[in-house]
Amino acid sequence: MNYRLYLTENCNLKCKYCYETNKTTNEMNFENIKSIVDYEIQQNNKNSLINFYGGEPLLRKDLIYKTIDYIKSKNTKTKFNFGLATNGMLLDDEFLKYIKKNNFTHIAYSIDGNEEVQNRNRILPDGKGSFDVVSENAKKTLKTLKNVVAMVTVTKNTLQNLSDSVEYLISIGFKIINLQFDYTANWNDTDLDKIENEYRKISRIYYKNIVEKNPINILIFDKKIRTYIDDTYVCNKECKFGMENLYVATDGNLYPCVQFVGNPKYIIGNCEKGVDVNKRDLLIKNAYKESNICKQCAIRNRCNHTCCCRNYITMKDINKVSPIICETEKIFIKISDELAERLYNNYPKIFIQKFYKV
Ligand code: SF4
Ligand code: SF4
Ligand code: SF4
Repeated sequence: MNYRLYLTENCNLKCKYCYETNKTTNEMNFENIKSIVDYEIQQNNKNSLINFYGGEPLLRKDLIYKTIDYIKSKNTKTKFNFGLATNGMLLDDEFLKYIKKNNFTHIAYSIDGNEEVQNRNRILPDGKGSFDVVSENAKKTLKTLKNVVAMVTVTKNTLQNLSDSVEYLISIGFKIINLQFDYTANWNDTDLDKIENEYRKISRIYYKNIVEKNPINILIFDKKIRTYIDDTYVCNKECKFGMENLYVATDGNLYPCVQFVGNPKYIIGNCEKGVDVNKRDLLIKNAYKESNICKQCAIRNRCNHTCCCRNYITMKDINKVSPIICETEKIFIKISDELAERLYNNYPKIFIQKFYKV
């Protein structure tokens, strides 16, 4: 099982688009962490992943140290790995050494791009930009760990610079880029052309890097290309709403996915008692009800319309797909197919190995 532990709801940045809209000073109690570790050990899983999450989890480095010490003190066959989602502000040399020593498999590093773009939204409480610290720490982090994912938020006011930002992130060493589209923004029809234009430019950057043997991963294209190659793929297989991932809120309640944290309707257990299987199964049963339009859509197996989280944040209903999701999915799939075709015709080794495993 993968856990995302919300160590704190507090943050040292004040990003303009922050999803933690009701930021509080709530923090995780260490007793809750102990309970969830004990619960996971009882499950006898071979592997387990603990992700430290927030707010900004590095405001509570002490809890990270205590959690890992607690796990080490246990006599268990479960192999625990760790991950971290951070804004990078507090990733100092000492903590990077700690990460290297302690089975951290990946870091989700929030960074929007070059100086202009990063400082547009990702600001400190006093209004100053975070670029200088975040970009320097990103370079150091990339030297420490292979698996560092640039988590880029795509908003209306950064879209026009998105391809420049991707280029910047690749230039400082990122190999994995996750473009997180802000579906909640007030997108309109005229934005669709701009979205297509910018993502097409990014697909050219991807192509150029792969052909020049720089093994980058831009996850939106990688995922969509995979859905073409493996036609048995369905998007919801990847996440299994509440089955593989558990979100542990600061108060110790368990949720099936990120957008539901804090909403009592979606609590599926708590740290002491673990997962309430009946509640979880009922939620799963009520999820993935496709509309007739989607059922008949030629790209339904390649589209993320079954993502309960996205449907919930856009339509307040886990089964209703918003027009912006439908339109952007079509754009992303079209561009990915064009990209894949160009790459297949050029046949670079990295592409063939990555998607065809030969
Ligand atoms: S770093 Fe994350 S939690 Fe902190 S203000 Fe920015 S978006 Fe919100
Ligand atoms: S592209 Fe639109 S119609 Fe087709 S499956 Fe996705 S959301 Fe449904
Ligand atoms: S609801 Fe969406 S984001 Fe959440 S686990 Fe499922 S597919 Fe992933």
